[in-house]
Amino acid sequence: MALYAAAAAVMAGVESRQGSIKGLVYASRFQNVKQLYALVCETQRYSAVLDAVIASAGLLRAEKKLRPHLAKVLVYELLLGRGFKGGGGRWKPLLNRHQARLKAELARLKVHRGVSRNEDLLEVGCRPGPASQVPRFVRVNTLKTCSENVIDYFKRQGFSYQGRASSLEDLRALKGKCFLLDPLLPELLVFPVQTDLHEHPLYQAGHLILQDKASCLPAMLLAPPPGSHVIDACAAPGNKTSHLAALLKNQGKIFAFDLDAKRLASMATLLARAGVSCCQLAEEDFLAVSPSDQRYHQVQYILLDPSCSGSGMVTRQLEEPGAGTPSKERLHALAGFQQRALCHALTFPSLQRLVYSTCSLCQEENEDVVRDALQQSAGTFRLAPVLPSWPHRGLSTFPGAEHCLRASPETTLTGGFFIAVLERVEVPSSFSQAETSAPELTPSPAPKRKKRRRCKAAAAPSTLLPRT
Ligand code: SAM
Repeated sequence: MALYAAAAAVMAGVESRQGSIKGLVYASRFQNVKQLYALVCETQRYSAVLDAVIASAGLLRAEKKLRPHLAKVLVYELLLGRGFKGGGGRWKPLLNRHQARLKAELARLKVHRGVSRNEDLLEVGCRPGPASQVPRFVRVNTLKTCSENVIDYFKRQGFSYQGRASSLEDLRALKGKCFLLDPLLPELLVFPVQTDLHEHPLYQAGHLILQDKASCLPAMLLAPPPGSHVIDACAAPGNKTSHLAALLKNQGKIFAFDLDAKRLASMATLLARAGVSCCQLAEEDFLAVSPSDQRYHQVQYILLDPSCSGSGMVTRQLEEPGAGTPSKERLHALAGFQQRALCHALTFPSLQRLVYSTCSLCQEENEDVVRDALQQSAGTFRLAPVLPSWPHRGLSTFPGAEHCLRASPETTLTGGFFIAVLERVEVPSSFSQAETSAPELTPSPAPKRKKRRRCKAAAAPSTLLPRT
């Protein structure tokens, strides 16, 4: 499909809620994904301006065969873009017939609004915001390679390695073919904003995982040692699962659950590509997974990254600038599920440490959920004080909330995120079970941590368990 027709089809799909811009661009099978994505995003950004110009120029009345989405893309290219690509094909002569009128309408709109630059016509929320400054973070998959090898590979490809960053300013200043090592995560490389590595051979081979820095924190903070048993409660599409497997060095077990069969299928592909062999996937409702099931009696670590409003997602902020917060009803429903999932997770008898995370900025899905779950756990769990130097903390809505972490383009140069680390409060051995405040959550005799087992070579691929 030609570029402009593909862009119009993506825009129509977004309007009829068939998916996000990114999802539809990838589904379109258009070869130059980057070019198509940029064109759709820019056209959407100027959507209101284009609608006004097209209407006042009478373009759709004059050209009955021109569909509205295609007209918008073409007028964007003519007036605001860099001119028609590949000559513009059969659309160029058609648009040229209306060029003078369209230009005059754009000029009139600027006079009317008292501005001189095209960009000043945008609503405030549509102007490039901090989300567009978030660099490209790339996690090195240590199941397949190491940072040194990847750095050498990029250097041989003409990239310039600038060493380990010492501040956010170093990340902000990145440009051209330069890259850095993140100051906090040793396996995280940082490239300039526009870098696209989807077609890169190291990504295709599973040596690199394209993952925002904030989304790397949950597995890093859960920090399960090799050999341990871990539950990833809402796991697909699996970036955090593959990170957990890398921390486990494929030794131990990850029980990964998700409800969505399609997402699980792409997760199985992702895990296979990443060389993960210690994970069992199950198409199952986490709320229905029994904590008393013997299979999970050694689980000491749980990662809970449940469905959320996604209000902190950078792609969302770029695709729908100015998109408001979710409705009260939606927030209420999401927070209800998150709360049930967190309380359920805390009832696993051997659980020692849990990370709760969302890519939402809403207090209802974050601090409120954690506060209520801690209250219900009646002193059995507490918030672990983590990363004291992290600049953006939880909203102080209850005592201890400052132990939670928040992230945002403005404060941490990452996507918007929330993370809380909950750890079991050790009960002094002199206390009997009857004396503890929440006997139902007291761990059954904690399994002694096993000695590290050596990784057997070429372990079996991750298995996809049938729905139970
Ligand atoms: N942790 C994932 C990652 O890093 O790739 C992202 C998880 S996504 C935010 C939330 C996932 O929860 C979705 O894939 C959704 O299908 C799944 N989900 C929603 N309700 C669930 C439930 N009751 N049990 C298990 N998974 C659920």
